[in-house]
Amino acid sequence: MDARLESIKDTVLARNPGEAEFHQAVVEVFESLGPVHDRHPEFLEAAILERLCEPERQIIFRVPWTDDSGRVQINRGFRVEFNSALGPYKGGLRFHPSVYLGIVKFLGFEQIFKNALTGMPIGGGKGGSDFDPRGRSDAEVMRFCQSFMTELYRHIGEYTDVPAGDIGVGGREIGYLFGQYKRITNRYESGVLTGKGISWGGSLVRPEATGFGTVIFTQEMLKTRGTSFDGQRVVVSGSGNVAVNAIAKAQALGATVVACSDSSGYVVDEAGIDVELLRTVKEVERGRLKEYAERRAGVSYVDGGSVWDVDATVALPCATQNELDGDAAARLLRNGLLAVGEGANMPSTRDAVAVFQEAGVLFGPGKAANAGGVATSALEMQQNASRDSWSFEHTEERLTEIMVGIHDRCAATADEYGEPGNYVLGANIGGFVKVADAMLAQGLI
Ligand code: GLU
Repeated sequence: MDARLESIKDTVLARNPGEAEFHQAVVEVFESLGPVHDRHPEFLEAAILERLCEPERQIIFRVPWTDDSGRVQINRGFRVEFNSALGPYKGGLRFHPSVYLGIVKFLGFEQIFKNALTGMPIGGGKGGSDFDPRGRSDAEVMRFCQSFMTELYRHIGEYTDVPAGDIGVGGREIGYLFGQYKRITNRYESGVLTGKGISWGGSLVRPEATGFGTVIFTQEMLKTRGTSFDGQRVVVSGSGNVAVNAIAKAQALGATVVACSDSSGYVVDEAGIDVELLRTVKEVERGRLKEYAERRAGVSYVDGGSVWDVDATVALPCATQNELDGDAAARLLRNGLLAVGEGANMPSTRDAVAVFQEAGVLFGPGKAANAGGVATSALEMQQNASRDSWSFEHTEERLTEIMVGIHDRCAATADEYGEPGNYVLGANIGGFVKVADAMLAQGLI
């Protein structure tokens, strides 16, 4: 790492002790930014990096609620409003027992660059709670969401901060959150949340957007090697919203997705995953992947283990951070891997990224490859602002244009900085320069 950046990085790490995932996200970005600071010494003089690493505002609050047996439960809520140089803070809410400040800050930090890359006017933020929705009744989830919003409402707004979903937060949770916001504020402020239901201000394609976008981005990478998804053997990790829609899109483009996973194990389905059955098990019944294997002939279920043991020419990690390490990357390489497109946020460890890059595998980092979700959230905000709703075809066309645009911007930036094909460098520099320029223009705030 560049020596000037190294000392800024050391200070950031020391000021934020115990936040391993945030440290990892910062280091990974800083490693790309040396050459930018050679060209733009004004960024160093204005302490852009120091400011960028310090969130504009961090909110931590108590979320009390009662479970179905009448017992009081206490969770912790977070919203980190990281950077508003380009627009209102924008980013999802994650409900998962692993959530703590370090996770929210890593996600918020990534979101700044991702949102900048979309070309849409949105800043970066993220939030969530250590609440575990798994095994909770609808009524419990509703009471939790209402309590969460009873604190959060005072910090958000269509011009201030616009949350959406992430792991553990889908259409059901956004519905309860929106209802409570509307009740407290007495405003039908559609643009305060995205990922809403289609009959009450949501956008078509938003549910599909992250998974579709990841496949569109990966398809653009494959094109640079004169190939496509057609005929590829694909492994996807996860089986949530991003994974299911990535599987659907990859198969629509002619690939066979032979495996996917959940936190208990993975399935191998050589005939190609049956997306309808997967949706029924995961989305309608909120069941486990094991049940998919039980209902379909010729499918094997592996309890525990790693989905990355399955041979693939294209890998799409769509589960969670640090799910693919250096060893898994090396195993994937043995079997003719061509490309990796990250549907999740930071699913590959730094070791894994190094393995892929050294081997010349096309590697699309999450902040570029999974930006389709938040980009379509910005399209939802546009529709809300103009009190309009667009067709599926039109919205999907916009998503495709945006993803191709992100791909091309990352590729062009990598070329400009003398590292053709390095999408990590292209995404980090492309996102950073846009935010840094806006911060410079807006003065020391
Ligand atoms: N949570 C998603 C992400 O990681 C979407 C955020 C949004 O739509 O605001 O980008």
